[in-house]
Amino acid sequence: MNNNKGIIVIISGPSGSGKGTIVKEIIKHDRYALSISVTTRSPRVGEKEGIHYFFKSRQEFEEMIHRGDLIEWAEFCENYYGTPRSYVEKMQSEGKDVILEIEVQGALKVKELNPEAVLIFIVPPSLTELKNRLIGRGTEKEEIIEKRLKRALEELDMINKYDYLVVNDSIHEAANKIHTIVEAEHMKATRN
Ligand code: 5GP
Repeated sequence: MNNNKGIIVIISGPSGSGKGTIVKEIIKHDRYALSISVTTRSPRVGEKEGIHYFFKSRQEFEEMIHRGDLIEWAEFCENYYGTPRSYVEKMQSEGKDVILEIEVQGALKVKELNPEAVLIFIVPPSLTELKNRLIGRGTEKEEIIEKRLKRALEELDMINKYDYLVVNDSIHEAANKIHTIVEAEHMKATRN
């Protein structure tokens, strides 16, 4: 058994579910490494290259796909998003658990290729709360909020494909639940 290899922990959830804040809380623990995705979407105010995303043109992104540089990629609300392979593999081999904050299609692709990956879905306490959080964030125009809400409902339909569901009543509690899940996954007798 190779107990030293890190596992892939996927955190998904609709825009506004609070998953980004939960991820920030989780990665304070140095057992984790956070994968930084590549995207063709434009940076939001305050977002920085290499910290929030690696921002690429569509052509650059497609070249990465063809070179096999991405573990998975997906199109979400008209932009490409993908997970760089080299960082994830390096961190896992160093024994870090790698957090991927990605949407549903990409999550399912990773699970197919790597059945040991743990899929965790974050849900807000209610749909009203979801809408309030999206509007309150103030980073998107109304049309984009509507698109993201529609997409959120589609994503909620996929919950049963996930290993765990965590309700985000409080950031601290949700983060603790995720630590517990990861601990338990490491102790699974079948993991090698
Ligand atoms: P946002 O534009 O709000 O940053 O991200 C939109 C959606 O894309 C979110 O659900 C986010 O989790 C997802 N996402 C971010 N990076 C990746 C990635 O590398 N692959 C996939 N499949 N989804 C991603």
